[in-house]
Amino acid sequence: MRGWTDYDVVIVGGSFAGLAVAMQLRGHRVLLVDQYPIGSHQMSACGTPLATARAVGAERAILEAHDRLVLHTGGKAARFVLREPYVTFDYAAFCRAMWVQTHAVFLQARATSLQAHRVETTRGAFTASFVVDARGWRACHRNGPSGPARDGAFGYGLETELPIRWEEAGLHFFFARRLVRNGYAWIFPCGETTRFGVGAFERETKLRSALDRFLRDLGLEAGEVHGGLLAVARQQPVQDGVLRVGDAAGHCLPATGEGIRTAIFHGIHCGRALAGTLAGRYSREEALRLYTLQVRSMDRFHRRLLTLQKLVAQVPESLLGLAAQLCTPPPLARWILDRYWVKTGWFLPRGA
Ligand SMILES: Cc1cc2nc3c(=O)[nH]c(=O)nc-3n(C[C@H](O)[C@H](O)[C@H](O)COP(=O)(O)OP(=O)(O)OC[C@H]3O[C@@H](n4cnc5c(N)ncnc54)[C@H](O)[C@@H]3O)c2cc1C
Repeated sequence: MRGWTDYDVVIVGGSFAGLAVAMQLRGHRVLLVDQYPIGSHQMSACGTPLATARAVGAERAILEAHDRLVLHTGGKAARFVLREPYVTFDYAAFCRAMWVQTHAVFLQARATSLQAHRVETTRGAFTASFVVDARGWRACHRNGPSGPARDGAFGYGLETELPIRWEEAGLHFFFARRLVRNGYAWIFPCGETTRFGVGAFERETKLRSALDRFLRDLGLEAGEVHGGLLAVARQQPVQDGVLRVGDAAGHCLPATGEGIRTAIFHGIHCGRALAGTLAGRYSREEALRLYTLQVRSMDRFHRRLLTLQKLVAQVPESLLGLAAQLCTPPPLARWILDRYWVKTGWFLPRGA
């Protein structure tokens, strides 16, 4: 494998997915390409299970831990106690914590073409035994008419972070058609600050107006905003010899918009498959097949979440509120959440 290429692996995208791949490839020649300095462009509300942060050694980036999810809908609040807490974190610190555990070389450049063994960037072309596409939603967006844009299977999110402390603990989600017709709003407390956002699963929603309405109801005004797309339509895990991970492969989950855990989960599996080949344990073809099978094993549940996402948009809010209340008793809530986590890529909590 070594010798005839510039690198063993070139990874394009230095966020959750790309860094998770790079972390598995210590001791190999890895080039990580991103258009921005690592950790400099936050797009997400940055809420993920504590177990995910632990799995990549990024606990020091945690701002606040949350032991419950609160769904506000139909005029009621349904509280779900979490077996394993979710945490909100500092994006830059999280990425830095992952980055220092890699042995990769970083190149700040925009990649313009990805092929099985070659990547072209604004700062030159590089060859590699493996090329990994971890460019996030921007990668799927370019897939043209056969891509998810045609399916209407993108989510869109916009968020602002304000320097106020939110007193009621937990991650809060609001399903209210008055605010967002097909989607939800959220409040994520982060210690001394709080993130307020809106997400929609249809392009027509005017996110900025929805966010302003949401904040007005709370007597607040938006500060700086950031956001992006949620790539919830699955792509081929390997396309034309390039491995795709995270949002670049549509690993963000429908209905919930959770994409950090899945990007890291699949990134770790992708990196391990490549490391196995680079160590001579199996062939390139076997590595691609292994990764494909691992991703595919979760396709069915992903499709179910897509159905749930469509259903939630149809069901009257009062019914949604009632359904949420019915699911709050701990044994049932635990069964639902465990199933959701295990079927979409879970990291075992410490001591489990
Ligand atoms: C408003 C909002 C809030 C969200 N909140 C949450 C949340 O709280 N929890 C959660 O789990 N998920 C959340 N998500 C989803 C989550 O952010 C994504 O699923 C996750 O970031 C995917 O990680 P990734 O590494 O695959 O891609 P990204 O994080 O998008 O990273 C892609 C990287 O590739 C780089 N890149 C792209 N194109 C190129 C190129 N041509 N050349 C070089 N570099 C390139 C980018 O600069 C970027 O660094 C949210 C999404 C949005 C939009």
